[in-house]
Amino acid sequence: MSEETSFIKGLYLVSTPIGNLGDISDRAVKTLKSADIVACEDTRVTAKLFSLLGISAPLTPYHEHNADKVRPALMKRLKNGETVALVSDAGTPLVNDPGYRLVQDCIAENVYVTAVPGASAVLTALQLSGLPCHRFLFSGFLPVKSAARKKELKELSTVNSTLIFYEAPQRIGETLDDMLDVLGDRRIAVARELTKRFEETLRAPLSQVIANYRKNGVPKGEFVLVVAPPDKEEKIGEEKLKEILVSALQKMSLKDAVAQTVKMTGLNKKQVYETALALKNDGI
Ligand code: SAM
Repeated sequence: MSEETSFIKGLYLVSTPIGNLGDISDRAVKTLKSADIVACEDTRVTAKLFSLLGISAPLTPYHEHNADKVRPALMKRLKNGETVALVSDAGTPLVNDPGYRLVQDCIAENVYVTAVPGASAVLTALQLSGLPCHRFLFSGFLPVKSAARKKELKELSTVNSTLIFYEAPQRIGETLDDMLDVLGDRRIAVARELTKRFEETLRAPLSQVIANYRKNGVPKGEFVLVVAPPDKEEKIGEEKLKEILVSALQKMSLKDAVAQTVKMTGLNKKQVYETALALKNDGI
């Protein structure tokens, strides 16, 4: 490991804390202090961070609504040999935040680009999840409407990786319901308020987390959902199938119970139907 001494002009992608101010790196502060301009999502948010850190570099807004207009001006400055730093409101820029097209333009125009790494909610949640970390798929925010959300979950259901999502607190309940419906009762880690005072990670099967939130309400804060990969080893045996069907038949018709169970388990429809019919004939 070495400490960089020379400073190359170009675009610097600077990560900022996701909650705990102490997570800003020494290199991030030095880079931001020496930038000719800092492009940020919300100037009020970054101004607050700068005042806490004693940084006075000029700020310019760069967000999803003005990026196409502002990008040429930033590129002009970069090509004139200035240093531009890009930050987001929190965490690592470009990860579900603006910046990817600016990086693309720099690459196309041979402008130097580098990153000053730091906090990111995705990786912090993955670390704390207790789920496999060697293969993961980060899918940002799921669609807001349930039908589209379920469609996307269905596409992801066979991916042999840990799945990571961001989610807004007001949608956690319905998203967890859709996950149970489409992915089955996988293990999940719900990471909340990472690096902040009320940080907590709930680790349990989806059905238990749902039951917990139904009973106690969904707490406030920022959330990352980390879902276990499909368990290839665990075959759903006849006993487990009966257990799922008994519970479904208590709440819905035979047809709906079969449809839901097929979706949840991925088992053959004929097998599920025959087991359900036998249970029904036995008076369940
Ligand atoms: N670029 C950021 C990063 O590197 O983490 C993420 C930006 S994204 C627009 C914001 C979302 O990240 C939030 O809605 C939440 O899902 C997640 N997030 C950010 N900070 C968090 C924290 N401290 N704890 C839990 N989730 C967080």
